[in-house]
Amino acid sequence: MTLRNDHLFVDPSLDPSALQEATPDAVLRWAVQSLDRIAVATSFQSSGLVILHHLRTIKPDIPVLFLDTGFHFEETLRFRDTIAEMWDLKVVTLRGEHGNAEEQAKIYGSELYRRSPDTCCGINKVKPLQTALEEYDGWISGLRRDQSPLRAETPIIEAQLLPSGNEIMKIHPLARWNKSDVDAYRLAHDIPSHPLLEMGYGSIGCWPCTRAIKAGEAERDGRWEGSSKTECGIHSFGKPHGPQQSEAEQ
Ligand code: SF4
Repeated sequence: MTLRNDHLFVDPSLDPSALQEATPDAVLRWAVQSLDRIAVATSFQSSGLVILHHLRTIKPDIPVLFLDTGFHFEETLRFRDTIAEMWDLKVVTLRGEHGNAEEQAKIYGSELYRRSPDTCCGINKVKPLQTALEEYDGWISGLRRDQSPLRAETPIIEAQLLPSGNEIMKIHPLARWNKSDVDAYRLAHDIPSHPLLEMGYGSIGCWPCTRAIKAGEAERDGRWEGSSKTECGIHSFGKPHGPQQSEAEQ
Protein backbone atom coordinates (compact mmCIF):
# COMPACT_ATOMS: atom_id res chain seq x y z
CA MET A 1 0.00 0.00 0.00
CA THR A 2 1.25 3.48 -0.82
CA LEU A 3 0.25 6.17 1.63
CA ARG A 4 0.27 9.85 0.86
CA ASN A 5 2.58 11.90 3.05
CA ASP A 6 0.86 15.22 2.46
CA HIS A 7 -1.67 16.51 4.97
CA LEU A 8 -5.15 17.24 3.73
CA PHE A 9 -6.51 20.68 4.29
CA VAL A 10 -8.49 20.16 7.46
CA ASP A 11 -11.99 21.56 7.38
CA PRO A 12 -14.23 20.47 10.28
CA SER A 13 -17.27 20.72 8.02
CA LEU A 14 -15.68 18.27 5.58
CA ASP A 15 -17.87 15.33 4.67
CA PRO A 16 -16.33 12.34 6.54
CA SER A 17 -16.57 10.28 3.37
CA ALA A 18 -13.87 12.53 1.93
CA LEU A 19 -11.47 11.09 4.50
CA GLN A 20 -11.59 7.51 3.22
CA GLU A 21 -8.28 7.94 1.39
CA ALA A 22 -6.68 10.33 3.86
CA THR A 23 -3.56 9.74 5.91
CA PRO A 24 -3.92 8.85 9.60
CA ASP A 25 -2.59 12.29 10.42
CA ALA A 26 -5.32 13.98 8.37
CA VAL A 27 -8.04 11.76 9.82
CA LEU A 28 -6.91 12.53 13.36
CA ARG A 29 -6.71 16.28 12.68
CA TRP A 30 -10.22 16.21 11.23
CA ALA A 31 -11.51 14.24 14.21
CA VAL A 32 -10.06 16.46 16.94
CA GLN A 33 -11.24 19.60 15.16
CA SER A 34 -14.70 18.24 14.41
CA LEU A 35 -15.57 16.59 17.72
CA ASP A 36 -15.46 18.67 20.87
CA ARG A 37 -15.25 15.77 23.27
CA ILE A 38 -13.00 13.05 21.92
CA ALA A 39 -10.95 10.26 23.47
CA VAL A 40 -8.66 7.48 22.29
CA ALA A 41 -8.91 3.93 23.62
CA THR A 42 -5.90 1.66 23.64
CA SER A 43 -4.37 -1.42 25.24
CA PHE A 44 -0.90 -0.10 24.37
CA GLN A 45 -0.23 -2.43 21.47
CA SER A 46 1.56 -1.33 18.31
CA SER A 47 -1.35 0.29 16.46
CA GLY A 48 -2.42 2.17 19.55
CA LEU A 49 1.12 3.43 20.07
CA VAL A 50 1.24 4.75 16.51
CA ILE A 51 -1.98 6.66 17.09
CA LEU A 52 -0.77 8.00 20.44
CA HIS A 53 2.44 9.13 18.78
CA HIS A 54 0.48 11.07 16.13
CA LEU A 55 -1.72 12.61 18.81
CA ARG A 56 1.27 13.95 20.73
CA THR A 57 1.46 16.81 18.25
CA ILE A 58 -2.24 16.98 17.34
CA LYS A 59 -3.92 16.77 20.76
CA PRO A 60 -1.46 15.86 23.51
CA ASP A 61 -4.04 16.23 26.30
CA ILE A 62 -6.55 13.81 24.79
CA PRO A 63 -8.02 11.37 27.35
CA VAL A 64 -6.50 7.91 26.86
CA LEU A 65 -9.06 5.29 27.86
CA PHE A 66 -7.55 2.08 29.24
CA LEU A 67 -9.78 -0.87 30.12
CA ASP A 68 -8.30 -2.40 33.24
CA THR A 69 -10.09 -5.75 33.20
CA GLY A 70 -8.25 -7.09 36.22
CA PHE A 71 -6.77 -9.81 34.02
CA HIS A 72 -4.00 -7.98 32.20
CA PHE A 73 -0.47 -9.32 32.04
CA GLU A 74 1.87 -7.54 34.44
CA GLU A 75 3.95 -6.68 31.37
CA THR A 76 1.01 -4.76 29.91
CA LEU A 77 0.45 -2.72 33.05
CA ARG A 78 4.14 -1.89 33.38
CA PHE A 79 4.39 -0.99 29.69
CA ARG A 80 1.30 1.25 29.97
CA ASP A 81 2.94 3.09 32.87
CA THR A 82 6.23 3.45 30.99
CA ILE A 83 4.59 4.94 27.90
CA ALA A 84 2.25 7.13 29.95
CA GLU A 85 5.19 8.63 31.80
CA MET A 86 7.37 8.95 28.70
CA TRP A 87 4.65 10.78 26.72
CA ASP A 88 2.91 12.46 29.65
CA LEU A 89 -0.41 10.84 28.78
CA LYS A 90 -3.71 11.57 30.45
CA VAL A 91 -4.70 7.94 31.09
CA VAL A 92 -8.28 7.31 32.20
CA THR A 93 -8.59 3.84 33.74
CA LEU A 94 -11.93 2.11 33.23
CA ARG A 95 -12.99 -0.85 35.38
CA GLY A 96 -15.98 -3.14 35.49
CA GLU A 97 -18.56 -2.76 38.23
CA HIS A 98 -16.87 -5.41 40.38
CA GLY A 99 -13.55 -3.59 40.33
CA ASN A 100 -11.20 -6.54 40.23
CA ALA A 101 -10.90 -10.27 39.60
CA GLU A 102 -11.41 -11.26 43.25
CA GLU A 103 -14.68 -9.37 43.63
CA GLN A 104 -15.91 -10.70 40.29
CA ALA A 105 -15.16 -14.27 41.45
CA LYS A 106 -17.29 -13.77 44.60
CA ILE A 107 -20.33 -13.10 42.41
CA TYR A 108 -19.72 -15.20 39.32
CA GLY A 109 -17.38 -17.86 40.65
CA SER A 110 -13.83 -18.40 39.53
CA GLU A 111 -12.71 -18.55 35.94
CA LEU A 112 -15.77 -16.89 34.42
CA TYR A 113 -13.52 -16.19 31.44
CA ARG A 114 -13.49 -19.94 30.72
CA ARG A 115 -17.16 -20.66 31.38
CA SER A 116 -18.57 -17.56 29.70
CA PRO A 117 -15.98 -15.28 28.11
CA ASP A 118 -18.72 -13.16 26.52
CA THR A 119 -20.14 -12.37 29.95
CA CYS A 120 -16.66 -11.66 31.31
CA CYS A 121 -15.84 -9.31 28.40
CA GLY A 122 -19.24 -7.69 28.79
CA ILE A 123 -18.59 -6.92 32.46
CA ASN A 124 -14.99 -5.83 32.13
CA LYS A 125 -14.77 -4.30 28.67
CA VAL A 126 -18.03 -3.53 26.92
CA LYS A 127 -20.07 -2.03 29.74
CA PRO A 128 -17.28 0.14 31.26
CA LEU A 129 -16.46 1.50 27.82
CA GLN A 130 -20.10 2.16 26.96
CA THR A 131 -20.51 4.03 30.24
CA ALA A 132 -17.38 6.11 29.71
CA LEU A 133 -18.31 6.97 26.12
CA GLU A 134 -21.43 8.76 27.30
CA GLU A 135 -19.13 11.69 28.08
CA TYR A 136 -17.74 11.90 24.55
CA ASP A 137 -18.76 12.77 21.00
CA GLY A 138 -16.32 10.32 19.50
CA TRP A 139 -13.49 7.90 20.17
CA ILE A 140 -10.44 6.73 18.28
CA SER A 141 -9.42 3.10 17.96
CA GLY A 142 -6.45 1.35 16.36
CA LEU A 143 -8.46 -1.24 14.40
CA ARG A 144 -6.95 -2.31 11.06
CA ARG A 145 -8.58 -4.17 8.18
CA ASP A 146 -5.72 -6.66 7.91
CA GLN A 147 -6.09 -7.90 11.50
CA SER A 148 -8.84 -10.43 10.82
CA PRO A 149 -11.63 -11.22 8.34
CA LEU A 150 -14.15 -9.66 10.76
CA ARG A 151 -12.25 -6.39 10.61
CA ALA A 152 -11.77 -6.42 6.83
CA GLU A 153 -14.55 -3.90 6.21
CA THR A 154 -13.54 -1.48 8.96
CA PRO A 155 -14.43 2.06 7.81
CA ILE A 156 -12.32 5.10 8.60
CA ILE A 157 -15.26 6.65 10.44
CA GLU A 158 -18.54 5.14 11.58
CA ALA A 159 -21.40 5.93 13.90
CA GLN A 160 -21.87 3.92 17.07
CA LEU A 161 -25.05 3.81 19.09
CA LEU A 162 -24.73 3.70 22.88
CA PRO A 163 -27.32 1.85 25.00
CA SER A 164 -28.67 5.24 26.10
CA GLY A 165 -29.59 6.02 22.50
CA ASN A 166 -26.80 8.58 22.11
CA GLU A 167 -24.88 8.28 18.88
CA ILE A 168 -21.15 8.95 18.78
CA MET A 169 -18.47 8.72 16.11
CA LYS A 170 -15.86 5.98 16.06
CA ILE A 171 -12.67 6.74 14.16
CA HIS A 172 -10.17 4.22 12.79
CA PRO A 173 -7.26 6.26 11.40
CA LEU A 174 -5.19 3.12 10.69
CA ALA A 175 -7.94 1.10 9.02
CA ARG A 176 -6.07 1.13 5.67
CA TRP A 177 -2.67 0.37 7.19
CA ASN A 178 -1.29 -3.13 7.56
CA LYS A 179 1.05 -4.62 10.15
CA SER A 180 4.13 -3.71 8.08
CA ASP A 181 3.04 -0.07 7.93
CA VAL A 182 2.65 -0.01 11.71
CA ASP A 183 5.99 -1.71 12.34
CA ALA A 184 7.76 0.62 9.89
CA TYR A 185 6.28 3.70 11.56
CA ARG A 186 7.18 2.42 15.01
CA LEU A 187 10.78 1.73 13.99
CA ALA A 188 11.13 5.04 12.13
CA HIS A 189 10.03 6.94 15.24
CA ASP A 190 11.87 4.81 17.78
CA ILE A 191 8.67 3.80 19.55
CA PRO A 192 9.11 0.92 22.03
CA SER A 193 7.07 -2.23 21.56
CA HIS A 194 5.04 -4.21 24.07
CA PRO A 195 7.52 -6.68 25.63
CA LEU A 196 5.29 -9.70 24.95
CA LEU A 197 5.44 -9.10 21.19
CA GLU A 198 9.10 -10.07 21.33
CA MET A 199 8.09 -13.28 23.15
CA GLY A 200 5.92 -14.51 20.28
CA TYR A 201 2.57 -12.96 21.07
CA GLY A 202 0.70 -11.52 18.09
CA SER A 203 -2.12 -9.68 19.83
CA ILE A 204 -2.23 -9.15 23.57
CA GLY A 205 -5.35 -9.15 25.65
CA CYS A 206 -6.02 -10.61 29.10
CA TRP A 207 -3.69 -13.37 30.29
CA PRO A 208 -6.38 -16.11 30.59
CA CYS A 209 -7.46 -15.56 26.98
CA THR A 210 -4.18 -14.92 25.20
CA ARG A 211 -1.35 -17.19 24.12
CA ALA A 212 1.70 -16.71 21.91
CA ILE A 213 1.14 -17.54 18.26
CA LYS A 214 2.92 -20.24 16.29
CA ALA A 215 4.68 -19.89 12.97
CA GLY A 216 2.14 -19.34 10.21
CA GLU A 217 -0.66 -18.25 12.52
CA ALA A 218 -2.42 -14.93 12.07
CA GLU A 219 -1.94 -11.99 14.43
CA ARG A 220 -5.08 -12.66 16.49
CA ASP A 221 -5.02 -16.47 16.46
CA GLY A 222 -3.76 -16.51 20.04
CA ARG A 223 -6.91 -14.92 21.43
CA TRP A 224 -9.64 -17.02 23.11
CA GLU A 225 -8.14 -20.34 22.08
CA GLY A 226 -10.61 -23.22 22.11
CA SER A 227 -13.61 -20.98 21.60
CA SER A 228 -15.31 -19.48 18.57
CA LYS A 229 -14.97 -16.03 20.12
CA THR A 230 -12.71 -13.68 18.18
CA GLU A 231 -13.72 -10.23 19.48
CA CYS A 232 -14.36 -8.87 22.95
CA GLY A 233 -17.41 -6.88 21.84
CA ILE A 234 -16.26 -3.26 22.13
CA HIS A 235 -16.03 -2.97 18.36
CA SER A 236 -19.30 -4.68 17.49
CA PHE A 237 -21.99 -3.05 19.60
CA GLY A 238 -24.21 -0.24 18.45
CA LYS A 239 -23.73 -0.16 14.73
CA PRO A 240 -26.89 1.70 13.63
CA HIS A 241 -26.86 0.18 10.18
CA GLY A 242 -25.14 -3.10 10.91
CA PRO A 243 -25.76 -6.28 12.88
CA GLN A 244 -26.80 -5.61 16.45
CA GLN A 245 -25.24 -7.52 19.29
CA SER A 246 -27.38 -8.71 22.11
CA GLU A 247 -26.52 -8.18 25.76
CA ALA A 248 -25.87 -11.90 26.09
CA GLU A 249 -23.34 -11.81 23.29
CA GLN A 250 -21.45 -8.91 24.83
S1 SF4 B 1 -10.50 -11.18 27.49
FE1 SF4 B 1 -10.89 -12.93 28.86
S2 SF4 B 1 -10.33 -12.30 30.95
FE2 SF4 B 1 -10.44 -10.45 29.63
S3 SF4 B 1 -12.46 -9.65 29.97
FE3 SF4 B 1 -12.61 -10.97 28.16
S4 SF4 B 1 -13.09 -13.07 28.90
FE4 SF4 B 1 -12.47 -11.78 30.68
